[in-house]
Amino acid sequence: MAKINLILAKNNSFYCDGIFSIGVYIKEKKAVLIDSGISKDVAKEIDKLLTHDHIQIEAIINTHCHGDHCGGNAFFQQKYPKIKIFSTETEKPFIEDPLLAPICFCGGAAAFEGIKKCKPIAPQQPSKVTELIAPYEDQKILICDEKFEIITLPGHTRGMVAVKSPDNVLYCGDAVFGGDTFRKYPILFYTFIGDTLKSFKKLRALIPSMDAIILYHGGKVDDLGPLINDHEKLINETKNTILSMLREGPLSIEEITAKIMQTNEIPDDLISYVLTKTPIQAYLAELEHEKLVEIRVTKGIRRAQIIDKIPIHLSHEAPAVML
Ligand SMILES: [Zn+2]
Repeated sequence: MAKINLILAKNNSFYCDGIFSIGVYIKEKKAVLIDSGISKDVAKEIDKLLTHDHIQIEAIINTHCHGDHCGGNAFFQQKYPKIKIFSTETEKPFIEDPLLAPICFCGGAAAFEGIKKCKPIAPQQPSKVTELIAPYEDQKILICDEKFEIITLPGHTRGMVAVKSPDNVLYCGDAVFGGDTFRKYPILFYTFIGDTLKSFKKLRALIPSMDAIILYHGGKVDDLGPLINDHEKLINETKNTILSMLREGPLSIEEITAKIMQTNEIPDDLISYVLTKTPIQAYLAELEHEKLVEIRVTKGIRRAQIIDKIPIHLSHEAPAVML
């Protein structure tokens, strides 16, 4: 396990170096973590770093339930039984029961072993959320007499939040991915497409008032605007790609997933498959919501198909033309 170092964002607000930019707010020898890393090993390293300087970890705020964000909770809760763990009501069940997220990736039924063991999908050990954040509303919470702001940014998951530290540093969780992660994944992991686009708009409006912005996968980002534009562009392109495929004829989610995996040379493994198929489900639900696509079952196969008389252009710039 590589040593973890803290990087200063502003005043008392730090983040960890490496692939998980866990937020660390330190004041008067007390720390609040924003997310807890992917595993016990990562959590141990952070603990070592802070206890070396006699800093007590008082609380963790989980931005959402994915295992790379709450995988360290159990270690901290076992070591510090009085630690406060915050999450939204929406994410809580998934943090507390490591089986729930894998079930979501397996059609709502018992999950395959490979999915259950995938650390970024689900925490490998349960932890107890002790403090609830009301869902779907921006709010302020007090921890150690310090005010943290919770900013709802649904899309990556339904209950995802960003956290603004008392130093005006915004920890974005997975609302937006850093450049390297963005380039690595041809299909970005968003599970509610309409909400994602609204969250981008909200984030864009917040940029000028923030003193620093931290992405969990990417660290400090100096110019978030162009990165959000890139995300938005890719989402609209993906939507158009799926629509173009469906113009050739109805397709099942599996067939769309296969075409996208083959075109983008996504590796043939179970995790890559579910991380592609799940957002495709979200795109189809969005297209259905926009009344561009309908879902039908024929001879036992569920397929998406274009609804007649749909606009040719989906882009916001282009006017809708009726067939
Ligand atoms: Zn995530």
